[in-house]
Amino acid sequence: MKKGFSVLVFLVLAVSKLFAQQSALQIHYIVSFDSAASNSLHVEMMISGVKPGKLTCKMPQWMPGYYQIMNYANAVSGVQIKDENKKHIDFKNASSNSWTFINTNSKKIIISYNIKATKKFVANSYVDTSRAYLIPCATFLYLDNQLEISPTVQIIPSKNWSNIATGLNLISATTHTYRASNYDILFDSPILIGNLEELQSFSINGIKHRFIGYNLGNFNKEKFIKDLSKVVKSGIDIIGDIPYSEYTFIGIGPGRGGIEHLNNTTVSFDGKGLETEGGLNKTMSFLAHEFFHNYNVKRIRPYELGPFNYDKGSKTNLLWVSEGLSVYYEYLMVKRSGIMSEKALLKSFEGNITAFENGPGKNHQSLTQSSYFTWQDGPFGTTGPEKNKSISYYEKGPIVGLFLDFYIRHKTNNQKGLDDVMRLVYKEYYQTKKRGFTDAEFQMTCEIIAGASLNDVFEYVYTAKPLDYTTFLGYGGLSLKRLDDKKYSLEPLQIMDKLQTEIYHSWLH
Ligand SMILES: [Zn+2]
Repeated sequence: MKKGFSVLVFLVLAVSKLFAQQSALQIHYIVSFDSAASNSLHVEMMISGVKPGKLTCKMPQWMPGYYQIMNYANAVSGVQIKDENKKHIDFKNASSNSWTFINTNSKKIIISYNIKATKKFVANSYVDTSRAYLIPCATFLYLDNQLEISPTVQIIPSKNWSNIATGLNLISATTHTYRASNYDILFDSPILIGNLEELQSFSINGIKHRFIGYNLGNFNKEKFIKDLSKVVKSGIDIIGDIPYSEYTFIGIGPGRGGIEHLNNTTVSFDGKGLETEGGLNKTMSFLAHEFFHNYNVKRIRPYELGPFNYDKGSKTNLLWVSEGLSVYYEYLMVKRSGIMSEKALLKSFEGNITAFENGPGKNHQSLTQSSYFTWQDGPFGTTGPEKNKSISYYEKGPIVGLFLDFYIRHKTNNQKGLDDVMRLVYKEYYQTKKRGFTDAEFQMTCEIIAGASLNDVFEYVYTAKPLDYTTFLGYGGLSLKRLDDKKYSLEPLQIMDKLQTEIYHSWLH
């Protein structure tokens, strides 16, 4: 009886496993561009293995990396929902970004829709007859509460388009079909389609890095790749680990801004200005920033930034770390790679100090508040309801990063610095705990490295207390001079003691 019972259990398990496999939800998208001339793309979403009952599809309201509600669903039109017999199914819009319907008994559902893509911006999709730039959060409807499904995406390029650039896994080159292991990966993988130019790739520790894009422009491409590889290497050297199997810079054409992803970044890029010192520093700092984000925010991340709330946004106090410290490191990466001069490095910080000190919100809003309220204040703290009382974490963040680095170096006799903090956060929270860190955990990690309380610096994170430049810049041998009402100059101290000299020189390299 015992034996018979286990056979029965085995059979029941085997049958239910088979049934689960057969009825597992599968989602396949086909994206086509017959109406590219009118800036429109067409999507078919095929859901198979579906059960009878109520279903809700949603379009994300924002994309991770750009912390603003984007109302992507507003660009969706012509929605049709059909069953396996191509019979129309009625639907309701319970909200501006959701479509709800009842599946009576069909095993397959086909949802088709058009998307208008007219805005040339890194966080918006754009389509015309020359290329398509797809933001997945603005392209692919998802089944509510089913973000763990592994969807496939088939691209049908316009006849004259020959390349596709994306971080998604290619599963069929002949049909241009890709697979994402889940929706977080799909939504993290923008797609650029057109006649793209690819520059010479470079390897670091055997890992391939690529630069591919639309309308890259005319510049010395050999020198550019040589410079970029040095900058990328200096970023990798900070953390000491390469967590991706390949990395791609995807240039989307002229414009402003970039968005970071796990194994790629999309950047507005036209190759202009690279022949001047200022232009080269600016472009390399921008690319360094986006690249460093693969660590700082995509892997070393605030607790709240994963799993994402695609509907309401994911609010965190810690964008001053994710964005502010990425600005701090973009300068250092370009300096340490030998491209940026010492003078230009100080000028970069001078720019942040001047902007922050002349801003109206410096006595009103803390760094944590500017992070949390970015959803209403705008990405630079300049467009919200109280724009005279808000600041930008892009401006104050790198200044506090500098204070923090110098203070840790001072406390440890220049044996440790902010690089050690970033490495420990990477190891402890990304690699070991496999989760984000909280406000308290970030401060705690800094204090473990410093071997001392760092409340004096963290006051500048949690409050709007005026910054004590003399003390904190002094730890690293720098001083801030006020030139006039609005201008500041950042310079090395005329006289430095032994520790200040050591800190200043090791910081530069
Ligand atoms: Zn950024």
